[in-house]
Amino acid sequence: MQLGKLPQTGRPVMDFERNKKIGIFGGTFNPPHNGHYYLAKKALEEFSLDEVLLLPVGLPPHKMQDPVLGRELRRRMVELLAEMDPRFRLCTMELERDGYTYTIDTLRAMRRQLGPGTELYYIIGTDTLFELPTWKEYEQVFSYTTFLCFPRPGDSMARVRRQIAYYQEKFQKTVLLSRHLGPEISSTEIREMFVNGEPLDGLVPDAILEFMEKNHVFR
Ligand code: ATP
Repeated sequence: MQLGKLPQTGRPVMDFERNKKIGIFGGTFNPPHNGHYYLAKKALEEFSLDEVLLLPVGLPPHKMQDPVLGRELRRRMVELLAEMDPRFRLCTMELERDGYTYTIDTLRAMRRQLGPGTELYYIIGTDTLFELPTWKEYEQVFSYTTFLCFPRPGDSMARVRRQIAYYQEKFQKTVLLSRHLGPEISSTEIREMFVNGEPLDGLVPDAILEFMEKNHVFR
């Protein structure tokens, strides 16, 4: 059984596919930052996940206006993030797909290849919570996964709770809200600071910062 290029660690596929709670953390990772690291770690702990698949997206339709680094550069940076915890794994499924990538296609492909006992949890921040209705076949997405949502600084919690209640009523599906507030870090901010030569200590993992400097990304 094959799950795209899902396992990057050399561990056999069978190892992770039965009766497990798998977190899927999709993102542009343009670049990955300590906010991503924090979310992935907290998701593992708080929701007792067995592992988190770090899933760099190919060409996200709604982000085409941003200067998105190429797939290979983002893949290598997310690989560095994946090395920070043995329960993180890089999933290159979407990077390998041509053109736009849609979460529903990824979830369907995963579901086809994973045993029915495997539960899929999709990790998002509250900004993404509000964007879900713009996703392709978003109603279907809810039938494939449970969302784990992390509050993002600046997002109104009253509005977040209303949105979650709306999804609950529409899909009879609970969005699990983390008790951990995501740190005040975004890739947008990192890109700007990096281009301006501002120090990024504490905002980006050292290995990724080194990679960004060596490869002159965003410049
Ligand atoms: P950009 O600034 O380019 O939009 P980003 O920092 O939001 O990027 P993405 O790779 O787009 O990073 O994020 C992937 C997912 O992680 C999204 O669901 C986003 O909401 C969530 N996320 C990223 N950073 C944080 C954070 N600091 N707190 C909470 N959620 C976050």
